[in-house]
Amino acid sequence: MRRIYMDNSATTPVRQEVIEKMGEYYNTTFGNPSSVHHFGREAKKGLDKARGQVATVIGAEDEEIIFTSCGTEADNIAIIGSARANRNKGKHVITTKIEHHAVLHSCEQLEKEGFEVTYLGVDSEGMVDINELEKAIREDTILITMMHINNEVGTILPIKKVGEIAHKHGILFHVDAVQSFAKVPIDVNEMNIDMLSASGHKIYGPKGIGCLYLRKGTKVNPIIFGGAQERKISPGTENAPGIIGFGLAAELASKEMEQETDRLTALRDKLINGLLEKIPDVKVNGPRKERLAGNVNVGFKYVEGESLLLMLDLKGIAASSGSACTSGSLDPSHVLLAMGISHEIAQGSLRLSLGKYNTEEDIDYCLEVLPEIVQRLREMSPLCSNL
Ligand code: PLP
Repeated sequence: MRRIYMDNSATTPVRQEVIEKMGEYYNTTFGNPSSVHHFGREAKKGLDKARGQVATVIGAEDEEIIFTSCGTEADNIAIIGSARANRNKGKHVITTKIEHHAVLHSCEQLEKEGFEVTYLGVDSEGMVDINELEKAIREDTILITMMHINNEVGTILPIKKVGEIAHKHGILFHVDAVQSFAKVPIDVNEMNIDMLSASGHKIYGPKGIGCLYLRKGTKVNPIIFGGAQERKISPGTENAPGIIGFGLAAELASKEMEQETDRLTALRDKLINGLLEKIPDVKVNGPRKERLAGNVNVGFKYVEGESLLLMLDLKGIAASSGSACTSGSLDPSHVLLAMGISHEIAQGSLRLSLGKYNTEEDIDYCLEVLPEIVQRLREMSPLCSNL
């Protein structure tokens, strides 16, 4: 059967060049980067190169990059580690209602430790209101943590503006860039970003590797303890093949960014316009303009998202009904609800996230199959008597 992968925001396949490069570090250059002998030194050289490759993507200095085991760990260190380190300055943190659980649950942990967190709302397109942010700032605000691009609806948040405000007030600014790193331009200096999280597996690199950008002089308390690796901030023997794969994937994605953005924008718009044309009672979730190039998120009235996913899978199309972390639960997505979308539409929402290996034929196939599936599910739905 023809299989089409349209779940690139959940994870991406590892590109061939990266697999080959990682292979070297599992085979001939397998040493522990902390070892003084040849094998260790070679692995350490690989790590140094990768640190530079990742730093270049965001305009950082090499030594400001700390490799972590994933984006989630980077978010935890940035939020919990910086709040604990700055506890004497204040106990107030600002974030948004549409963050990934890696951020929301880190904020919940801080609340258990006596911090107060303000969760900013968003409008119907998933956009934060800068005036509301300014109003939320208090004397004791120590941290603003905000995602760059939302993983479910693709909204691009006004990070540069938020950075300016944070900087003006002397507040630390953390950006969860897991969905934007090497996909849209980022400059940590121009954007006044103090900490930034990224992850390998969203950019055709391996899973189980991420990084935290930590501006020179920014203090964080470690949240796990061990050896001296990664400046004791993310200790433990480095995942050298993962780090080296992440570095190469970052460099390649960054080089292809402009061209890939144009190509994916055209595919995304063709898919969205085709769905609007071919299916009645369909709603585009999220903005039409300030949106990640490959993100399509649509809500169908009278359709249950999980059934839609299963039927698409039977036709060979892999998609998602929300973020991968919330699937498995039938609760509607917290992001869609924060955008004021009804439970009914939220339950019937579908995310198709396009990537490097999707083609125009994939879009045509999806436009052929999806309207039929929606029609069939609506015919079976007791809520839909008019079809
Ligand atoms: N933040 C966002 C916005 C994400 O989309 C994800 C993963 O989907 C994460 C954080 C977590 O990253 P990782 O899977 O590397 O832990």
